[in-house]
Amino acid sequence: LPQVVKSARVMKKAVAYLQPFMEAEKAANAEADDAPTVLLATVKGDVHDIGKNIVGIVLGCNSYRVVDLGVMVPADVILDRAIEEKADVVGLSGLITPSLDEMVHVAKEMERRGLDLPLLIGGATTSKQHTALKIAPHYGHEVAHVLDASLAVGVVSNLVDAKRRTVFANDNRQEQERLRATYGARLRKPTLPLEEARARRLQLDWTRAEPATPDFFGRRVETVPLPDIVPYIDWTFFFSAWELKGRFPAILDDPRLGAQARELHRDALALLDKLIAGNELEARAVWGFWPAAADGDDLVVFEPPSDRAGGLDEQMRFPMLRQQERKIDDSKPYRSLADFVAPLRPGDEQPRDSLGAFAVTAGLGLDHIVARFEAEHDDYGAILAKALADRLAEALAEKTHLEARRAWGFGRDEELSNEDLIAERYRGIRPAFGYPACPDHTAKGDLWRLLGAETAIGVHLTEHYAMWPTASVSGLYFSHPEARYFGVGRIGRDQLIDYAQRTDRPVAEAARWLSSNLSEDAASWSEAAVGAVQERKLATAST
Ligand code: SAH
Repeated sequence: LPQVVKSARVMKKAVAYLQPFMEAEKAANAEADDAPTVLLATVKGDVHDIGKNIVGIVLGCNSYRVVDLGVMVPADVILDRAIEEKADVVGLSGLITPSLDEMVHVAKEMERRGLDLPLLIGGATTSKQHTALKIAPHYGHEVAHVLDASLAVGVVSNLVDAKRRTVFANDNRQEQERLRATYGARLRKPTLPLEEARARRLQLDWTRAEPATPDFFGRRVETVPLPDIVPYIDWTFFFSAWELKGRFPAILDDPRLGAQARELHRDALALLDKLIAGNELEARAVWGFWPAAADGDDLVVFEPPSDRAGGLDEQMRFPMLRQQERKIDDSKPYRSLADFVAPLRPGDEQPRDSLGAFAVTAGLGLDHIVARFEAEHDDYGAILAKALADRLAEALAEKTHLEARRAWGFGRDEELSNEDLIAERYRGIRPAFGYPACPDHTAKGDLWRLLGAETAIGVHLTEHYAMWPTASVSGLYFSHPEARYFGVGRIGRDQLIDYAQRTDRPVAEAARWLSSNLSEDAASWSEAAVGAVQERKLATAST
């Protein structure tokens, strides 16, 4: 991939030079306009674009005309432009789970507007299963999932040729029917009644060890010099962004990938030096601790003691979800993050436990840097800068977590190598909202209010709770030695209703945010409920 993107850079710079001459030629030669057009966009609410940009570059190298609408593009804009540009294929990209639903919406809109263009789906969290089960059924024409940039050309070339399109459509439909048959069954996985799952929660013995108490309560806001962050970079993920799969540093000596990996690494380090010297990229962190207690499956954080007038002042409540899919091994607990925080005991005047929260970014100023690369027709540099900023953000999350463990006390005698840190071989976890243990992205709204993150570090949440700038990471800190990452998986209708109440939202709205976590039962029930609400609304409107 780095080679492709770099050769694209050579081509783009050359084309930019030749453009005026080509324009003149084009006027005399209509053929030049015949290249099939692929329209690309990151859907509404989502801001991630490294993957989409790479797909655009690869298609451009294969002489497709690429119209890239950028990020956060609403469905109507995508479809209006697809018609205007006479697109032959529409490609949607998204990284966060709410984008999956947005893609379903685009497919429905394509059907409603009577379009017949093939629709391509790509980006992390998208999958051939989700595409087959949730997107394809809403649109009468081809909907194809494209796993990565290297496969995009093959798929597009099949779709823009009338004969091959028929064959492709057939194969694709059969494959999707197969996926629906096998995967649909998985969604029907039996769930335990919520009360039973709760009864079988992870029961930690709070009498054995006192929960850790942090050095301070409240929050800290820091601007962190980039050189302090660099040692914490996890380079393995940097290479995977470029589809170079392999562990760092071993990948540098890989017989097949080593030469490319070394060159890419060298370019990255050179750019990193430039970014540090140029002082254009800024990294900031806001993090802190709050007295906290579990209340059922809710995590409750209280005002720091100094702000307290007396008694307990609840500052924020984070309702958590609990595993409910029936487990084969009966001895396994049904987990929720709420299990890792001590509950209040009758008569407790103070919570025994505490929670941390954090939001960090290394993307301040990145737009400007990227724009400069793009003005120089240097997509390689632009993608390199974005990938580096992402790495710096993750590295800052690692560094800040280290400081949090020290502030909690138990981190002071840690002796961990960078490799140990990357493997998270320490006490405690930092789950991120939108990830499997706490999949609801909307909780970031409350996290932002708790941290005052928007003003503290200049990171904004989109309407689908993606962080902007993208090179940002956020979550909660848990201190308990038993705290582990896990996936909530599918929840039943009872938990959906319960969670909607706890988050003070209509069930249909909660269902929309949790669509990737609903069991078949919860999903079909909530769809029926939405239908009923709409019918009621229609009925009210007509009376
Ligand atoms: N070193 C990697 C770290 C990021 S991935 C990098 O540089 O990219 C690991 C992070 O994802 C964790 O620290 C946590 O914030 C989040 N995470 C992983 N699994 C999770 C889960 N099951 N639930 C919630 N958050 C999770």
